[in-house]
Amino acid sequence: MITELIKIRGLMQNHDDFVRAGNLLKNGEVVAIPTETVYGLAANAFNPDAVKKIFKAKGRPGDNPLIVHISDFDDLSKVAVDIPEKAVTLAEKFWPGPLTMILKKSAKIPPEVTAGLATVAVRFPSHMYARAIIEAAGVPLAAPSANLSGKPSPTSALHVIRDMSGRIPMIIDGGECEVGLESTVIDLTGDIPVLLRPGGVTLRELRDAVGEVSVNKKILEEVNDDEQVASPGMKYKHYAPSSPVVIAEGETGAFVKYVTDNIKNKNIAILCFEEEKALFDGMGVSVFTYGRLSHPKELAHGLFSALRNLDEFTFDVIYARMPKADDGISLAIVNRLSRAAAFSKVVL
Ligand code: AMP
Ligand code: MG
Repeated sequence: MITELIKIRGLMQNHDDFVRAGNLLKNGEVVAIPTETVYGLAANAFNPDAVKKIFKAKGRPGDNPLIVHISDFDDLSKVAVDIPEKAVTLAEKFWPGPLTMILKKSAKIPPEVTAGLATVAVRFPSHMYARAIIEAAGVPLAAPSANLSGKPSPTSALHVIRDMSGRIPMIIDGGECEVGLESTVIDLTGDIPVLLRPGGVTLRELRDAVGEVSVNKKILEEVNDDEQVASPGMKYKHYAPSSPVVIAEGETGAFVKYVTDNIKNKNIAILCFEEEKALFDGMGVSVFTYGRLSHPKELAHGLFSALRNLDEFTFDVIYARMPKADDGISLAIVNRLSRAAAFSKVVL
């Protein structure tokens, strides 16, 4: 299959391209689209055959459900039923935006989208082009991240080309994704909302909006093979470059010493904060940064791109630096990096 890449300059300039993307989606095809979180691999959420193509293109396990994207609050009732008050509050506060809500699914959503679950994940993205494409398609779009299963999520069209070229008919290039991490996922099917995946909307913001929100403990823990999880995505290896990643926990000074001590016998790369970079000058270690520790949003934005850059090379080990988990965006960074490292770490 030939993959067409369309660089978007504006809603008006590329009007015909949005129509073409919409038509492909109406006809049961898969199109990669930009969103404010990461790039998505979209298909008509009401069409099981179209949805199956997403799983095939990604190599995604069939038991990992997809997020359904809408472009109008009123469309929520087409995809979900029994919508609780707290979901309405959260939608009013954070939609359009990087928040996905787990709700009871409507009969119109086929089991292929939800991996047979009685619930559906729904999001109303804020990205102008994502919304224009959903509108052009005229149906809600099921869309997971547009990477090959297991790889870091794509935050630019180039990342999507790497993974999806030849697998899908069209990629819409809308530039870099603003948030850079996948959406926050919150389960609203019980009495107390449960955070299943941290993201651009933070735990602090969620609690400010609806009071008590519990946190699924698997956000920061490894899942064993035989374990039941609240969100199927938690089970899978994620975000990993091909070389092994190890989290290096401790003060900067101890980290520099650790790298110095280990550099003689190993081909090492480090993924560190911008503030630490200069300390490794001339040391003979490959240094990658993903933003300033003092600006966690910058770290979130740069993380997947840095992991993909690291994936261009082969190292014996990649030592990665991580902020401390809190109730802000750092929780999402720690969640993604811990999984990229398969929870391996050295405490310095
Ligand atoms: P992705 O779009 O690739 O970032 O993945 C979507 C995430 O949402 C995965 O971690 C899924 O497991 C999760 N998800 C989707 N639908 C549901 C659902 N009905 N219940 C719980 N988690 C879900
Ligand atoms: Mg994904």
